[in-house]
Amino acid sequence: MTAHIINGTEIARTILKEVREEVARIKLKTGRVPGLAVVLVGDDPASEVYVRAKEKACAEAGIASFPRRLPASVSEKEVLALVAALNADPKVHGILIQIPLPPSIDEGRVTEAVDPDKDVDGFHPRNLGKLLMGEETFVPCTPAGIQELIIREGIEVEGKHVVIVGRSNIVGKPLAAILMQKAAGANATVTLCHTGTKDLSSHTLRADILVAAAGRARMITANLVKDGAVVIDVGVNEVGRTAEGKRILVGDVDFEGVQEKASAITPVPGGVGPMTIAMLLQNTLKAFKIAGGRAG
Ligand code: NDP
Repeated sequence: MTAHIINGTEIARTILKEVREEVARIKLKTGRVPGLAVVLVGDDPASEVYVRAKEKACAEAGIASFPRRLPASVSEKEVLALVAALNADPKVHGILIQIPLPPSIDEGRVTEAVDPDKDVDGFHPRNLGKLLMGEETFVPCTPAGIQELIIREGIEVEGKHVVIVGRSNIVGKPLAAILMQKAAGANATVTLCHTGTKDLSSHTLRADILVAAAGRARMITANLVKDGAVVIDVGVNEVGRTAEGKRILVGDVDFEGVQEKASAITPVPGGVGPMTIAMLLQNTLKAFKIAGGRAG
């Protein structure tokens, strides 16, 4: 079997178009547009690339973006003051704090300072709690993108065994919380694996849907995958540079080997990555609606 390759870029483009059309309708009716503030502290080159991609997507969707770049030397107090100002700014409907923050700044304190109604990343403890309880909330963008990808591909989740490798607060745990809910596009039996898991293959080989989010280059090899499984690769791992100095990125899945066994597979790049940004646009639109389109 050679797997169907899930085109995340194409699906994300469709979502961007949907958001753009809705933003245009809102603008025509109210003269207002949703606004997203992206806070970047320091000069981490990977974060800079992600932030630029987010700003570009906002521009394409007609969402106003308010970039806030601060030097790595900034104090936590100054970051918190900026967050407070953004919380109070009626033109800003969504606030995204690009992580990682410099070690001198407590990420948890900054995350908790964001108004939960502007928390388009879905990382605020209030929103994560609501997610766990199955209540309507902002869902973290990467796991939300994975669910959306699966749904739009027409892959049934209900009753399936989903095995997730990786339990981070931004991918593995929220994805487990989403897919275990008694809800449409979910209602799966979920197994969450991590470095404490004994005999990883005994779990992954039982997965109807296998999600690799461990941050380990090509660790999911064909012998860990059941015939016909759907394989979602979240990993983005730098394994070297081209002669021109461009980063060479691979996923957590050994794509060539696994595509002979899986029924469907996401590539890296072009799978989960673009969906993360598409979900950010959707969440920003949602934040605008929560604010009742108060200003803009
Ligand atoms: P973290 O490093 O925060 O978490 C990795 C998780 O994987 C941990 O729970 C860890 O277990 C587990 N793990 C690591 N190695 C193994 C192993 N050998 N066997 C079993 N479990 C293992 O990573 P993130 O969740 O932040 O990111 C994961 C990957 O996804 C990265 O490559 C990252 O770049 C990528 N990513 C991609 C995004 C996108 O938009 N495409 C967005 C976010 C992340 P333990 O808890 O025991 O340490």
